[in-house]
Amino acid sequence: MPTDTKPQPRRPAANRKQLTFQEFGEQRVRKATSTLAWLLSVFLPVPLIAAGFALSTAIGPVMALAVYAGLVAVSWLIVAWRKLRSITPVSRIDWDTAPPYEQTVRAHLSPETDRAVQDALDRFQERGYQASLFRVTCTCGHGEASCTCQMRATAGAALFRGMGRAALLVGDHLLDGDTEMLRFVLAHECTHLTPSRSRITRLVMSAIVDGGMIVGILAPGMTVLPAGAVLVLVCLTARWAIEISCDIPAAHLHGAGAPPLWRLWSQVVARSRWALPWWQLPLRVLWRVLPAHPYVWLRARICRAAYARG
Ligand SMILES: [Zn+2]
Ligand SMILES: [Zn+2]
Repeated sequence: MPTDTKPQPRRPAANRKQLTFQEFGEQRVRKATSTLAWLLSVFLPVPLIAAGFALSTAIGPVMALAVYAGLVAVSWLIVAWRKLRSITPVSRIDWDTAPPYEQTVRAHLSPETDRAVQDALDRFQERGYQASLFRVTCTCGHGEASCTCQMRATAGAALFRGMGRAALLVGDHLLDGDTEMLRFVLAHECTHLTPSRSRITRLVMSAIVDGGMIVGILAPGMTVLPAGAVLVLVCLTARWAIEISCDIPAAHLHGAGAPPLWRLWSQVVARSRWALPWWQLPLRVLWRVLPAHPYVWLRARICRAAYARG
């Protein structure tokens, strides 16, 4: 089985400002693997708390709350107006470039893997998203034996709610590996799309953004520090709970695919640990204590129990 897919010849996007699907996927992977992205994945409330605190210090808490409430009201009005006028946001992706890219990638997949991918795309379709597959490959340039690209062992979806489109980004280690492992990962991703999980995810995001601003505005003096720490931990716990709630149904269906996934992750994480610039090492230690996703040992234990129950 090929370990890599040759990039298709790029054709210019119809609109100059638009990206081809492949360009979008590559850009998404670059952004998702940046230091800023993983810092924000855990500490997103922190800049919002700081903004709320600065606003409150400058104009007082009552005025700061009024200004923030005004901003929220204006953003809601804009959304409502766009809905009322049926304005579809201009896509930054030329979606016409997605099918030929996906065909090139899928032509190299085994029939079982292709079926697993198609099943996942069908689940997206049922939830109102026309999804296209993007194959995540190595971007670190370290060579196969020492590659540090963690996204090659993961899957994730970029959703474009207003357009009913989605990009399903799947690592090549999954596409070229054990099919049951791929099915487990894809079942987890599809569970994220269920209405209950989507609603809870939106609630958590709103708690992070609004909660961060409100804590920053209302917490007096240095109490902002413990209040902010509590908010970070509450948001992290909620996000861990969502991840575990997606693991359990995936493990019921394809739990045999979970152990090879944890093994693959451990290998990639161990390789990537020492390939970091020295100044990132303390941050990564912090990230090991407070990762954006639950600890692997915890997920492994829960999935094992869910699979055993069947
Ligand atoms: Zn790599
Ligand atoms: Zn997840």
